[in-house]
Amino acid sequence: MNPSAAIALQLAFRPASEDDLPAIRALATDIWRRCYADLLPAGQVDHMLAAMYGVEELRRNLGDGIRIELIELTGDAIGYLAFGRVSTEGQVHLHKLYLLPEHHGRGIGQAALAHVLASAARSGAEAVSLRVNKGNARAIRAYQKAGFETIGALCQDIGDGFVMDDFVMRRATDSSAADVPPSIACASASSASLQNMNLTCYLAGAPITGTPVLTIRSPYDGSVSGTVTQAGRAHTEAAIAAAVAFRDTPTRYQRSEILEKTRTALEARREEFARTISSEAGLALCEGRYEVGRTIDVLRFAAMEALRDDGQIFSCDISAQGKARKIFTTREPLRCAVAITPFNHPLNQVAHKLGPAIAAGTPIILKPSEKTPLVAVKFAELLYAAGLPGPMLSVLLGPTAEVAEVLVKHADVEVVAFTGSVPVGKRIAATAGYKKLVLELGGNDPLIVLDDADLDLAVTLAAEGSYRNSGQRCTAVKRILVQDGIAAEFTRRLVEKTREYVCGDPLDEATKVGTVIDEASAMYLETVLQEAVAAGAKVLIGGGRRGALFQPTVIADVPRDCRMVVAESFGPLAPILTVRDLDDALTLANSTAYGLSSGVVTNNLQSALKAIRILRCGTVNINEVPGFRVENSPFGGIKDSGLGIKEGVIEAIKGYSYVKTFSLPW
Ligand code: NAP
Repeated sequence: MNPSAAIALQLAFRPASEDDLPAIRALATDIWRRCYADLLPAGQVDHMLAAMYGVEELRRNLGDGIRIELIELTGDAIGYLAFGRVSTEGQVHLHKLYLLPEHHGRGIGQAALAHVLASAARSGAEAVSLRVNKGNARAIRAYQKAGFETIGALCQDIGDGFVMDDFVMRRATDSSAADVPPSIACASASSASLQNMNLTCYLAGAPITGTPVLTIRSPYDGSVSGTVTQAGRAHTEAAIAAAVAFRDTPTRYQRSEILEKTRTALEARREEFARTISSEAGLALCEGRYEVGRTIDVLRFAAMEALRDDGQIFSCDISAQGKARKIFTTREPLRCAVAITPFNHPLNQVAHKLGPAIAAGTPIILKPSEKTPLVAVKFAELLYAAGLPGPMLSVLLGPTAEVAEVLVKHADVEVVAFTGSVPVGKRIAATAGYKKLVLELGGNDPLIVLDDADLDLAVTLAAEGSYRNSGQRCTAVKRILVQDGIAAEFTRRLVEKTREYVCGDPLDEATKVGTVIDEASAMYLETVLQEAVAAGAKVLIGGGRRGALFQPTVIADVPRDCRMVVAESFGPLAPILTVRDLDDALTLANSTAYGLSSGVVTNNLQSALKAIRILRCGTVNINEVPGFRVENSPFGGIKDSGLGIKEGVIEAIKGYSYVKTFSLPW
């Protein structure tokens, strides 16, 4: 480890009274010894401590009256971070000391910064001062970018050729930030910069280091969004073993508290998480913000459900074969669950797996999409920081043959909860062997617009359903089936509406449609569009591509057998197909291999009821987009879209548990 990285973490502090000194020194000495054991000759650690505690310049800058509260003492720590509140009299009350676990070597300066700012803001501090090693140019740049100014310099020869050559920096706090538990997230709490998020996979709560690194780039401009260290087969097997061996299941109350604390932490870091989503997935910032809001709901509902016992009681004296007994049901956690998630809702899909598993008390191993792992890893860190025991969650990325496939096939894994494409889902079904499977796969959902519909509503739903999230929702509107009589007017209005969906830089506030996940996906959209045009369809607006950006596109006269509508097209396409009547619409809607969701726009109750009865899919939304749901309602498809086993917080908890019955004489 580079000593300057740890030095950059320090805030110089002094205890409130001489009485505190021995305990604090013992603690810090221990940290520093571990930190520098193989880097510094014996005895230097104490010199460094002396320098830390005894710097007169710092005392002048920071004032007296410093208090210290130790808030995290577990784990292997390599550094520590303290912050203080500046009183109106100009005194600094340093009242928290964070110990940062061993893996925080890279990007630690920015993590420290985020904590300093957020914590200081919450405690009402007017300013934050910190001490940075002059050699740590990266940390200094990060602090300057966040508004810190150098207010003093400290240079001390502390013996044996070791020099403490530091700056004291200071800035006003940002009152919009809030306190968060320690995390290795590298984003600053106040700045939007997300560059150099260097994250790790986690094996049972411990970071995986020293392994090959996966680099994630923005689909918009190719800039590096961050990196994650990867796992291999041995890590995968160890994660399964750790999950299976775990017995210390938190109580319902503790599980609920973990989920609640995670929710609170996520609320405090909404913007940072939204920007992470936009940065790695290319989704418009407004979509990132929306997704964080949905994830907060998932956590809220999962915390509520963790407290709920859905046990049943059956009296047994109810038949001639009965007895004077009662049968009770109780829900038991599984030993090891696996969750594999897609790129298109990189945070909420993860939350929909982890939240219910934690509520059920089931250890889970997450394999997020390699295209969007940053926000998934950051979310896991929130859970650990909220108190989730390490063995209850591992986060693994790596070669499919060494991670995903090992997880899917392993005999000790009791459930695989997969959300993703049909081909991968079917492959999992073919290879998983004897275990529970929850498969949430692709869709090509219809929006049926009947001639009695409120046209403004229909147009709004068509546009929202087709373009939101860059059209990359499993439940996006992928076919618009419009009754003949209103097709021309509906089409005209949809073209007008489409002009509102500005497509461009995901981080630009004006953008409503960012990129699709990568250039290859945008090129696929281009291909299916060309195929449709060759078959007689007309592009009325959009159709342009630049890199991974694909314009919202209205296509009219789309033949019924075009790949664009028979298969799943994952992008902002709005293909319009005309239908004669409701029956024709329902037949066409049911004609593909998918069966995820649907929307029907009508003011006729009989038509609505018939559609609900006849459509063969998991959801029918009347006068709403197919994607409408709340996070605890049952959700999932049939046919190629899934096995009919639902997710949504309440149903998913059932997937991560089993029901045990027991009976007693009565
Ligand atoms: P995908 O290609 O199927 O990938 C999904 C996940 O599966 C990724 O984590 C992927 O890892 C992993 N994976 C790839 N090969 C695997 C294998 N052989 N064994 C086990 N796991 C494997 O899907 P995507 O492109 O990320 O997501 C888009 C798809 O998800 C669309 O079809 C969409 O409709 C569907 N989706 C469905 C729902 C629903 O609820 N029904 C919700 C959202 C999305 P890598 O990243 O390493 O490839």
